[in-house]
Amino acid sequence: MTLFEKDGRLDLSRRLFLRGTGGGLLMGSSLGLVGPAFAQGGGAGNLPELPRSRPTGRPIPEMEQEMPMEPGRRLGWAVVGLGKFALNQILPSFAESRSSKLVALVSGNRQKAEQVASRYGVDTHNLYDYQTFDRIADNPDVDVTYIILPNALHAEYTVRSFKAGKHVFCEKPMAVTVEECETMIRAGREADRKLMVAYRAQFEPHNVEAIRRVREGEIGPLHLVTSDHGRILDPKDPADQWRMVKSLAGGGSLYDIGIYSLQAARYLTGEEPVEVFGQISNVKDDPRFREVEDRVAFQLRFPSGAVANLSSSYSTASVKRIQAFGEKGSLILDPGTEYEGNKLTVQSEKGRQEVKVKEQSQFAAEMDHFSQSVMENRNPKTPGEEGLRDVRILQAIYRSAQEAKPVTLDVTASTR
Ligand code: NDP
Repeated sequence: MTLFEKDGRLDLSRRLFLRGTGGGLLMGSSLGLVGPAFAQGGGAGNLPELPRSRPTGRPIPEMEQEMPMEPGRRLGWAVVGLGKFALNQILPSFAESRSSKLVALVSGNRQKAEQVASRYGVDTHNLYDYQTFDRIADNPDVDVTYIILPNALHAEYTVRSFKAGKHVFCEKPMAVTVEECETMIRAGREADRKLMVAYRAQFEPHNVEAIRRVREGEIGPLHLVTSDHGRILDPKDPADQWRMVKSLAGGGSLYDIGIYSLQAARYLTGEEPVEVFGQISNVKDDPRFREVEDRVAFQLRFPSGAVANLSSSYSTASVKRIQAFGEKGSLILDPGTEYEGNKLTVQSEKGRQEVKVKEQSQFAAEMDHFSQSVMENRNPKTPGEEGLRDVRILQAIYRSAQEAKPVTLDVTASTR
Protein backbone atom coordinates (compact mmCIF):
# COMPACT_ATOMS: atom_id res chain seq x y z
CA MET A 1 0.00 0.00 0.00
CA THR A 2 1.39 3.45 -0.87
CA LEU A 3 1.48 6.42 1.48
CA PHE A 4 -1.63 7.78 -0.18
CA GLU A 5 -3.73 4.63 -0.16
CA LYS A 6 -6.41 4.13 2.47
CA ASP A 7 -8.34 0.86 2.62
CA GLY A 8 -6.82 -0.03 -0.75
CA ARG A 9 -7.98 3.23 -2.46
CA LEU A 10 -6.13 6.46 -3.17
CA ASP A 11 -6.59 8.87 -0.25
CA LEU A 12 -6.98 12.30 -1.84
CA SER A 13 -7.37 13.99 1.54
CA ARG A 14 -3.58 13.72 1.81
CA ARG A 15 -3.03 15.93 -1.24
CA LEU A 16 -2.42 18.90 1.06
CA PHE A 17 0.91 17.28 1.75
CA LEU A 18 1.78 17.48 -1.92
CA ARG A 19 0.78 21.09 -2.20
CA GLY A 20 2.52 22.36 0.93
CA THR A 21 5.48 24.67 0.70
CA GLY A 22 6.98 23.40 3.99
CA GLY A 23 10.49 22.24 4.78
CA GLY A 24 10.19 18.94 2.90
CA LEU A 25 9.30 20.55 -0.36
CA LEU A 26 11.90 23.26 0.04
CA MET A 27 14.50 20.78 1.06
CA GLY A 28 13.61 18.51 -1.86
CA SER A 29 13.93 21.38 -4.30
CA SER A 30 17.22 22.57 -2.82
CA LEU A 31 18.57 19.08 -3.38
CA GLY A 32 17.18 18.97 -6.90
CA LEU A 33 15.06 15.99 -5.95
CA VAL A 34 11.62 17.40 -6.61
CA GLY A 35 9.84 15.34 -9.21
CA PRO A 36 7.13 16.62 -11.58
CA ALA A 37 4.46 15.63 -9.06
CA PHE A 38 5.89 18.07 -6.53
CA ALA A 39 6.67 20.82 -8.98
CA GLN A 40 3.12 21.07 -10.31
CA GLY A 41 0.99 21.12 -7.18
CA GLY A 42 -2.44 22.47 -8.09
CA GLY A 43 -6.07 22.05 -7.14
CA ALA A 44 -8.42 19.09 -7.45
CA GLY A 45 -8.69 19.61 -11.20
CA ASN A 46 -4.93 19.46 -11.65
CA LEU A 47 -3.78 16.48 -9.65
CA PRO A 48 -0.09 15.63 -9.67
CA GLU A 49 0.90 12.22 -10.91
CA LEU A 50 0.03 9.89 -8.06
CA PRO A 51 2.11 6.90 -7.04
CA ARG A 52 1.06 3.43 -8.20
CA SER A 53 1.06 0.16 -6.34
CA ARG A 54 4.53 -0.93 -7.33
CA PRO A 55 7.91 -0.42 -5.67
CA THR A 56 9.29 2.99 -6.60
CA GLY A 57 11.61 5.68 -5.28
CA ARG A 58 10.03 8.90 -4.01
CA PRO A 59 11.43 12.38 -3.25
CA ILE A 60 12.84 13.18 0.19
CA PRO A 61 9.84 13.44 2.55
CA GLU A 62 9.07 16.41 4.78
CA MET A 63 11.85 16.35 7.40
CA GLU A 64 11.14 16.83 11.09
CA GLN A 65 14.76 17.60 11.76
CA GLU A 66 17.84 18.44 9.81
CA MET A 67 19.94 15.54 8.53
CA PRO A 68 23.45 15.15 9.97
CA MET A 69 26.39 16.71 8.18
CA GLU A 70 28.44 14.44 5.95
CA PRO A 71 30.80 12.45 8.25
CA GLY A 72 33.87 14.06 6.67
CA ARG A 73 32.64 17.53 7.67
CA ARG A 74 31.71 16.68 11.29
CA LEU A 75 34.30 17.53 13.97
CA GLY A 76 36.19 14.62 15.53
CA TRP A 77 35.83 14.22 19.29
CA ALA A 78 38.04 12.33 21.75
CA VAL A 79 36.30 11.28 24.98
CA VAL A 80 38.68 11.43 27.94
CA GLY A 81 37.66 9.07 30.77
CA LEU A 82 35.34 6.13 30.17
CA GLY A 83 33.27 6.20 33.35
CA LYS A 84 29.58 5.94 34.14
CA PHE A 85 28.47 9.22 32.56
CA ALA A 86 30.65 8.81 29.45
CA LEU A 87 29.44 5.28 28.75
CA ASN A 88 25.77 5.69 29.64
CA GLN A 89 24.99 9.16 28.34
CA ILE A 90 27.69 10.63 26.16
CA LEU A 91 28.89 7.87 23.84
CA PRO A 92 25.32 6.86 22.84
CA SER A 93 24.49 10.53 22.16
CA PHE A 94 26.96 10.78 19.27
CA ALA A 95 24.37 8.80 17.27
CA GLU A 96 22.00 11.78 17.57
CA SER A 97 24.64 14.36 16.85
CA ARG A 98 24.70 16.26 13.55
CA SER A 99 28.09 17.91 13.56
CA SER A 100 30.19 15.86 16.00
CA LYS A 101 31.58 12.34 15.67
CA LEU A 102 33.42 10.08 18.09
CA VAL A 103 36.94 9.35 16.78
CA ALA A 104 39.19 8.66 19.82
CA LEU A 105 39.12 7.41 23.41
CA VAL A 106 41.36 8.09 26.39
CA SER A 107 41.29 5.64 29.29
CA GLY A 108 43.53 4.14 31.97
CA ASN A 109 41.97 0.75 31.25
CA ARG A 110 43.14 -0.53 27.84
CA GLN A 111 40.86 -3.55 27.82
CA LYS A 112 37.79 -1.39 28.45
CA ALA A 113 38.93 1.12 25.82
CA GLU A 114 39.33 -1.63 23.21
CA GLN A 115 35.94 -3.08 24.02
CA VAL A 116 34.25 0.33 23.80
CA ALA A 117 36.18 1.17 20.62
CA SER A 118 34.98 -2.01 18.92
CA ARG A 119 31.35 -1.20 19.74
CA TYR A 120 31.52 2.42 18.60
CA GLY A 121 33.71 1.90 15.56
CA VAL A 122 36.70 3.80 16.94
CA ASP A 123 40.02 2.92 15.28
CA THR A 124 42.38 1.20 17.77
CA HIS A 125 45.13 3.57 16.57
CA ASN A 126 43.07 6.32 18.21
CA LEU A 127 43.23 4.92 21.75
CA TYR A 128 45.30 6.72 24.37
CA ASP A 129 45.98 6.43 28.08
CA TYR A 130 46.93 9.18 30.52
CA GLN A 131 50.66 8.74 29.80
CA THR A 132 50.35 8.75 26.00
CA PHE A 133 47.68 11.47 26.01
CA ASP A 134 49.94 14.23 24.63
CA ARG A 135 50.46 12.25 21.41
CA ILE A 136 46.93 13.27 20.52
CA ALA A 137 48.66 16.40 19.14
CA ASP A 138 49.79 14.29 16.16
CA ASN A 139 46.27 13.05 15.43
CA PRO A 140 44.52 15.25 12.87
CA ASP A 141 41.28 13.26 13.29
CA VAL A 142 40.81 14.80 16.74
CA ASP A 143 39.48 18.38 16.83
CA VAL A 144 37.91 18.39 20.31
CA THR A 145 38.66 16.63 23.60
CA TYR A 146 35.72 16.02 25.95
CA ILE A 147 37.01 15.84 29.55
CA ILE A 148 34.83 13.49 31.66
CA LEU A 149 37.28 12.84 34.48
CA PRO A 150 36.93 13.46 38.25
CA ASN A 151 36.69 17.22 38.84
CA ALA A 152 40.26 17.70 40.12
CA LEU A 153 41.66 16.37 36.81
CA HIS A 154 39.70 18.73 34.54
CA ALA A 155 42.29 21.53 34.66
CA GLU A 156 45.32 19.33 33.85
CA TYR A 157 43.70 17.59 30.87
CA THR A 158 42.24 20.84 29.56
CA VAL A 159 45.66 22.49 29.59
CA ARG A 160 47.30 19.42 28.00
CA SER A 161 44.60 19.37 25.32
CA PHE A 162 45.21 23.02 24.48
CA LYS A 163 48.96 22.31 24.29
CA ALA A 164 48.10 19.56 21.82
CA GLY A 165 46.20 22.12 19.73
CA LYS A 166 42.72 20.77 20.47
CA HIS A 167 39.49 22.57 21.45
CA VAL A 168 38.11 21.54 24.85
CA PHE A 169 34.63 20.62 26.03
CA CYS A 170 34.84 20.11 29.81
CA GLU A 171 32.40 18.56 32.25
CA LYS A 172 30.98 20.49 35.19
CA PRO A 173 32.15 21.71 37.63
CA MET A 174 34.78 23.30 35.41
CA ALA A 175 37.52 22.75 38.01
CA VAL A 176 38.12 22.74 41.74
CA THR A 177 39.52 26.23 42.30
CA VAL A 178 39.13 29.69 40.79
CA GLU A 179 42.86 29.67 39.95
CA GLU A 180 42.49 26.44 37.97
CA CYS A 181 39.59 27.91 36.00
CA GLU A 182 41.64 31.01 35.22
CA THR A 183 44.58 28.88 34.10
CA MET A 184 42.31 26.88 31.78
CA ILE A 185 40.85 30.05 30.21
CA ARG A 186 44.33 31.52 29.74
CA ALA A 187 45.67 28.31 28.17
CA GLY A 188 42.79 28.34 25.68
CA ARG A 189 43.47 31.94 24.72
CA GLU A 190 47.19 31.29 24.30
CA ALA A 191 46.52 28.27 22.10
CA ASP A 192 43.78 30.15 20.22
CA ARG A 193 41.42 27.26 20.94
CA LYS A 194 37.86 27.27 22.31
CA LEU A 195 36.68 26.11 25.73
CA MET A 196 33.15 25.24 26.73
CA VAL A 197 31.74 23.88 30.00
CA ALA A 198 29.16 21.12 29.60
CA TYR A 199 26.13 22.81 31.14
CA ARG A 200 23.61 20.45 29.57
CA ALA A 201 20.57 22.04 31.28
CA GLN A 202 21.07 25.17 29.16
CA PHE A 203 20.45 22.93 26.12
CA GLU A 204 17.65 20.85 27.64
CA PRO A 205 14.40 21.74 25.80
CA HIS A 206 12.17 22.23 28.92
CA ASN A 207 14.73 24.53 30.53
CA VAL A 208 15.20 26.43 27.26
CA GLU A 209 11.41 26.87 27.04
CA ALA A 210 11.23 28.00 30.70
CA ILE A 211 13.94 30.62 30.13
CA ARG A 212 12.12 31.87 27.01
CA ARG A 213 8.82 32.25 28.89
CA VAL A 214 10.45 34.08 31.80
CA ARG A 215 12.25 36.46 29.41
CA GLU A 216 9.01 37.12 27.52
CA GLY A 217 7.35 38.14 30.80
CA GLU A 218 4.77 35.37 31.01
CA ILE A 219 5.08 35.14 34.80
CA GLY A 220 5.81 38.85 35.27
CA PRO A 221 8.88 40.28 36.97
CA LEU A 222 10.78 37.36 38.53
CA HIS A 223 11.21 37.73 42.30
CA LEU A 224 12.10 34.27 43.61
CA VAL A 225 13.78 31.10 42.34
CA THR A 226 13.94 27.90 44.35
CA SER A 227 15.81 24.79 43.32
CA ASP A 228 16.73 21.55 45.04
CA HIS A 229 19.07 18.83 43.84
CA GLY A 230 19.52 15.77 46.00
CA ARG A 231 20.38 12.10 45.84
CA ILE A 232 21.87 9.38 48.01
CA LEU A 233 25.67 9.13 47.74
CA ASP A 234 26.42 5.42 47.39
CA PRO A 235 29.87 4.27 48.57
CA LYS A 236 29.42 0.96 46.70
CA ASP A 237 29.13 2.78 43.35
CA PRO A 238 32.62 3.29 41.85
CA ALA A 239 31.40 6.58 40.34
CA ASP A 240 30.62 7.82 43.86
CA GLN A 241 33.89 6.70 45.43
CA TRP A 242 36.02 9.58 44.12
CA ARG A 243 33.15 11.92 45.03
CA MET A 244 33.92 11.17 48.72
CA VAL A 245 37.59 12.20 48.27
CA LYS A 246 38.08 15.97 48.52
CA SER A 247 41.32 16.02 46.52
CA LEU A 248 39.45 14.50 43.53
CA ALA A 249 35.97 15.98 43.90
CA GLY A 250 36.86 19.44 45.20
CA GLY A 251 33.70 19.47 47.31
CA GLY A 252 30.59 17.48 48.12
CA SER A 253 26.98 17.81 47.00
CA LEU A 254 27.34 21.55 46.33
CA TYR A 255 30.08 21.03 43.73
CA ASP A 256 28.47 17.97 42.18
CA ILE A 257 24.74 18.79 42.01
CA GLY A 258 24.23 22.07 43.87
CA ILE A 259 25.76 23.57 40.74
CA TYR A 260 22.48 22.74 38.91
CA SER A 261 20.49 24.72 41.51
CA LEU A 262 22.96 27.61 41.15
CA GLN A 263 22.87 27.49 37.35
CA ALA A 264 19.05 27.49 37.36
CA ALA A 265 18.95 30.61 39.54
CA ARG A 266 21.44 32.35 37.24
CA TYR A 267 19.91 31.38 33.89
CA LEU A 268 16.31 32.03 34.99
CA THR A 269 17.02 35.48 36.48
CA GLY A 270 19.66 36.26 33.82
CA GLU A 271 21.55 38.04 36.62
CA GLU A 272 24.75 37.57 38.63
CA PRO A 273 24.35 37.28 42.42
CA VAL A 274 25.77 40.09 44.58
CA GLU A 275 25.52 38.23 47.89
CA VAL A 276 25.42 34.61 49.03
CA PHE A 277 24.69 32.86 52.30
CA GLY A 278 25.30 29.17 52.91
CA GLN A 279 24.74 26.60 55.63
CA ILE A 280 26.26 23.12 55.63
CA SER A 281 25.03 20.09 57.52
CA ASN A 282 26.30 16.51 57.59
CA VAL A 283 24.74 13.27 58.81
CA LYS A 284 26.57 12.78 62.10
CA ASP A 285 29.48 10.28 62.12
CA ASP A 286 28.71 9.16 58.54
CA PRO A 287 32.00 7.97 56.96
CA ARG A 288 30.82 9.22 53.54
CA PHE A 289 31.15 12.78 54.77
CA ARG A 290 34.60 12.68 56.36
CA GLU A 291 36.07 14.82 53.57
CA VAL A 292 33.17 16.34 51.63
CA GLU A 293 29.92 17.98 52.71
CA ASP A 294 26.51 16.35 52.65
CA ARG A 295 23.77 19.02 52.63
CA VAL A 296 23.99 22.68 51.72
CA ALA A 297 21.19 25.24 51.96
CA PHE A 298 22.17 28.45 50.21
CA GLN A 299 20.65 31.74 49.24
CA LEU A 300 21.56 34.27 46.56
CA ARG A 301 20.57 37.90 46.25
CA PHE A 302 20.53 39.49 42.78
CA PRO A 303 20.89 43.17 41.79
CA SER A 304 17.17 43.43 40.83
CA GLY A 305 16.23 42.35 44.35
CA ALA A 306 15.31 38.82 43.21
CA VAL A 307 16.38 36.11 45.64
CA ALA A 308 17.06 32.40 45.25
CA ASN A 309 16.60 29.74 47.90
CA LEU A 310 18.62 26.72 46.82
CA SER A 311 19.85 23.38 48.13
CA SER A 312 21.92 20.32 47.43
CA SER A 313 22.05 17.05 49.31
CA TYR A 314 23.82 13.70 49.29
CA SER A 315 21.56 12.13 51.92
CA THR A 316 18.03 12.66 50.64
CA ALA A 317 16.01 10.78 48.03
CA SER A 318 16.37 11.96 44.43
CA VAL A 319 15.08 15.44 43.70
CA LYS A 320 15.85 17.67 40.68
CA ARG A 321 13.38 20.54 41.00
CA ILE A 322 13.47 24.14 39.80
CA GLN A 323 10.76 26.75 40.47
CA ALA A 324 10.48 30.40 39.44
CA PHE A 325 7.94 32.78 40.99
CA GLY A 326 6.97 36.04 39.33
CA GLU A 327 4.36 38.75 39.95
CA LYS A 328 1.93 37.25 37.46
CA GLY A 329 2.56 33.54 37.83
CA SER A 330 5.01 30.74 38.42
CA LEU A 331 6.80 28.02 36.58
CA ILE A 332 7.83 24.58 37.82
CA LEU A 333 10.38 22.22 36.28
CA ASP A 334 9.93 18.95 38.16
CA PRO A 335 11.93 17.07 37.35
CA GLY A 336 14.01 19.77 35.73
CA THR A 337 17.45 18.28 35.20
CA GLU A 338 16.88 14.59 34.46
CA TYR A 339 18.63 13.16 31.41
CA GLU A 340 15.16 12.79 29.84
CA GLY A 341 11.52 13.02 30.90
CA ASN A 342 11.64 16.52 32.40
CA LYS A 343 8.34 18.35 32.94
CA LEU A 344 7.44 22.02 32.73
CA THR A 345 4.27 23.40 34.33
CA VAL A 346 3.33 27.06 34.03
CA GLN A 347 0.78 28.88 36.17
CA SER A 348 -0.03 32.24 34.63
CA GLU A 349 -2.96 34.58 33.94
CA LYS A 350 -3.99 32.03 31.27
CA GLY A 351 -4.34 29.30 33.94
CA ARG A 352 -2.31 26.21 34.77
CA GLN A 353 -0.72 24.43 31.86
CA GLU A 354 1.63 21.49 31.51
CA VAL A 355 3.76 22.60 28.58
CA LYS A 356 4.38 20.02 25.86
CA VAL A 357 7.99 20.31 24.82
CA LYS A 358 9.55 18.16 22.13
CA GLU A 359 12.22 15.90 23.63
CA GLN A 360 15.65 16.31 22.10
CA SER A 361 18.97 14.98 23.35
CA GLN A 362 20.52 17.72 25.49
CA PHE A 363 23.88 15.94 25.16
CA ALA A 364 23.86 15.90 21.36
CA ALA A 365 22.59 19.51 21.40
CA GLU A 366 25.42 20.81 23.60
CA MET A 367 28.11 18.89 21.70
CA ASP A 368 26.78 20.11 18.35
CA HIS A 369 26.59 23.66 19.66
CA PHE A 370 30.29 23.46 20.49
CA SER A 371 31.23 21.88 17.14
CA GLN A 372 29.28 24.62 15.35
CA SER A 373 30.96 27.30 17.50
CA VAL A 374 34.35 25.93 16.46
CA MET A 375 33.40 25.61 12.78
CA GLU A 376 31.98 29.13 12.65
CA ASN A 377 34.56 30.65 15.02
CA ARG A 378 31.85 31.87 17.44
CA ASN A 379 31.95 32.05 21.24
CA PRO A 380 30.05 29.10 22.72
CA LYS A 381 27.02 29.77 24.93
CA THR A 382 28.70 28.43 28.10
CA PRO A 383 32.41 29.26 27.74
CA GLY A 384 35.10 28.89 30.41
CA GLU A 385 34.11 32.27 31.88
CA GLU A 386 30.68 30.79 32.72
CA GLY A 387 32.30 27.88 34.56
CA LEU A 388 34.62 30.28 36.39
CA ARG A 389 31.65 32.39 37.61
CA ASP A 390 30.05 29.31 39.15
CA VAL A 391 33.23 28.12 40.86
CA ARG A 392 33.72 31.62 42.30
CA ILE A 393 30.16 31.62 43.67
CA LEU A 394 30.49 28.06 45.05
CA GLN A 395 33.67 29.08 46.86
CA ALA A 396 31.88 32.10 48.34
CA ILE A 397 29.08 29.82 49.58
CA TYR A 398 31.65 27.62 51.37
CA ARG A 399 33.23 30.73 52.89
CA SER A 400 29.86 32.02 54.03
CA ALA A 401 29.06 28.67 55.68
CA GLN A 402 32.44 28.63 57.38
CA GLU A 403 32.14 32.20 58.66
CA ALA A 404 28.41 31.86 59.39
CA LYS A 405 27.62 35.15 57.65
CA PRO A 406 26.65 36.41 54.17
CA VAL A 407 29.48 36.98 51.67
CA THR A 408 29.36 39.83 49.17
CA LEU A 409 30.39 39.03 45.61
CA ASP A 410 32.26 41.35 43.28
CA VAL A 411 30.05 41.26 40.19
CA THR A 412 32.70 42.94 38.03
CA ALA A 413 35.18 40.19 38.94
CA SER A 414 32.68 37.55 37.86
CA THR A 415 32.60 38.87 34.31
CA ARG A 416 36.30 39.55 33.92
P1 NDP B 1 33.15 7.92 36.94
O1 NDP B 1 33.90 7.59 38.17
O2 NDP B 1 32.11 6.98 36.50
O3 NDP B 1 34.15 8.16 35.73
C1 NDP B 1 35.35 8.84 35.86
C2 NDP B 1 36.40 8.17 34.97
O4 NDP B 1 37.57 8.98 35.05
C3 NDP B 1 36.82 6.79 35.41
O5 NDP B 1 35.99 5.78 34.92
C4 NDP B 1 38.22 6.71 34.84
O6 NDP B 1 38.10 6.39 33.46
C5 NDP B 1 38.72 8.14 34.89
N1 NDP B 1 39.66 8.38 36.00
C6 NDP B 1 40.94 8.77 35.84
N2 NDP B 1 41.54 8.91 37.01
C7 NDP B 1 40.65 8.59 37.96
C8 NDP B 1 40.71 8.52 39.37
N3 NDP B 1 41.82 8.85 40.06
N4 NDP B 1 39.60 8.14 40.04
C9 NDP B 1 38.46 7.84 39.38
N5 NDP B 1 38.36 7.88 38.04
C10 NDP B 1 39.44 8.26 37.32
O7 NDP B 1 32.52 9.39 37.18
P2 NDP B 1 31.35 10.11 36.39
O8 NDP B 1 31.29 9.61 35.02
O9 NDP B 1 30.12 10.07 37.21
O10 NDP B 1 31.86 11.65 36.43
C11 NDP B 1 32.91 12.11 35.63
C12 NDP B 1 32.75 13.62 35.39
O11 NDP B 1 31.53 13.87 34.72
C13 NDP B 1 32.69 14.47 36.67
O12 NDP B 1 33.33 15.70 36.44
C14 NDP B 1 31.21 14.71 36.88
O13 NDP B 1 30.93 15.90 37.58
C15 NDP B 1 30.72 14.78 35.45
N6 NDP B 1 29.33 14.36 35.34
C16 NDP B 1 28.47 15.19 34.69
C17 NDP B 1 27.14 14.85 34.58
C18 NDP B 1 26.22 15.75 33.83
O14 NDP B 1 25.02 15.49 33.85
N7 NDP B 1 26.71 16.76 33.16
C19 NDP B 1 26.60 13.61 35.15
C20 NDP B 1 27.61 12.77 35.77
C21 NDP B 1 28.92 13.16 35.85
P3 NDP B 1 39.01 5.24 32.78
O15 NDP B 1 38.79 4.01 33.58
O16 NDP B 1 38.51 5.16 31.41
O17 NDP B 1 40.42 5.75 32.86
